[in-house]
Amino acid sequence: MNEIFHKIEAKAELGKEEVIRLLEVGTTSQEFYRLLYLARKHSEERFGNKGYIFAQIGINAEPCSVNCRFCSMAAGHYVLPHRWQKSAEEVIEGVKQLVSERADDIFLMTTADYPVEKFIEIGRAVRPYIPSGIRLVANIGDIDGPTALRLKEAGFTGAYHIVRMREGIDTQAPVEQRVKTLDAIRDAGLELYYCVEPIGPEHSYEEIATEIFRAKEYRIEAMAAMRRTPVEGTPLYGYGAISTPELCKIAAVALLVIRPSRSMNIHEVTEMSLLAGINQLYAEAGANPRDTDDQTENNRGFNTAALRKILENSGYTTPAKK
Ligand code: SF4
Repeated sequence: MNEIFHKIEAKAELGKEEVIRLLEVGTTSQEFYRLLYLARKHSEERFGNKGYIFAQIGINAEPCSVNCRFCSMAAGHYVLPHRWQKSAEEVIEGVKQLVSERADDIFLMTTADYPVEKFIEIGRAVRPYIPSGIRLVANIGDIDGPTALRLKEAGFTGAYHIVRMREGIDTQAPVEQRVKTLDAIRDAGLELYYCVEPIGPEHSYEEIATEIFRAKEYRIEAMAAMRRTPVEGTPLYGYGAISTPELCKIAAVALLVIRPSRSMNIHEVTEMSLLAGINQLYAEAGANPRDTDDQTENNRGFNTAALRKILENSGYTTPAKK
């Protein structure tokens, strides 16, 4: 392990076997704390002490045909109490609120079947209310190159898209289709936001390392790691969840391997993660695949004020509110 730690300190590239060895570190061991130390040190050097608050609005709650076996909105086991779409006016109100709270990046999320034309219209409608310093990010289903360009023209600066853990097995989206979308986002000049997710106890370190290295193929500014939230009524509920230290370890490894240029996140929010150099957290409103309440701000979702406090408690600076 010492040799791997020295390579990290020397900023040398790690191979997949070395990454798997890091992921195998026990969460009560000395090596675990050394790993957190290296991640925190890297975070301080790379990001300064700048903390980021990202905020996401889920703009529809409807059954989704991709049928992810962990999601509360999958058509095969829809567990949310209602179905709805937010109007453009409602989304504008939500965005104006987030701008006044000085969120750094604002994400609009839909299920995979939401009409992309309608999404682009909403993007155009909200953009005038967002100052140029705040980024607007799309979190939608798979898209092709021309659609990625249209998102950019509408004022989106980036898109969140990933190959999920056991994509095509626990979801009905083929890996190749997800990769095509990743390439379309990159080629359109949109910023790609990436995350290794949703990580469950059944995933091997080899699988996790594979997804870490997939992210490394792209130029990632904002990286994340997310554990799967067991949602009652979904097929994967019985697997439970990985522990918070385990998630911190995976995030620390992802940070040290991928070296994103702007920020590293853990989702969902946990204060412990800041020990691993995490400098970015998400506020959430509206629909959320991890919640059984279709207004996640009333249940699992954090608000920007809570995140600001968490980041500042750990010594990070956050942008001043208006
Ligand atoms: S996680 Fe997204 S793509 Fe999968 S079922 Fe839920 S809304 Fe659809």
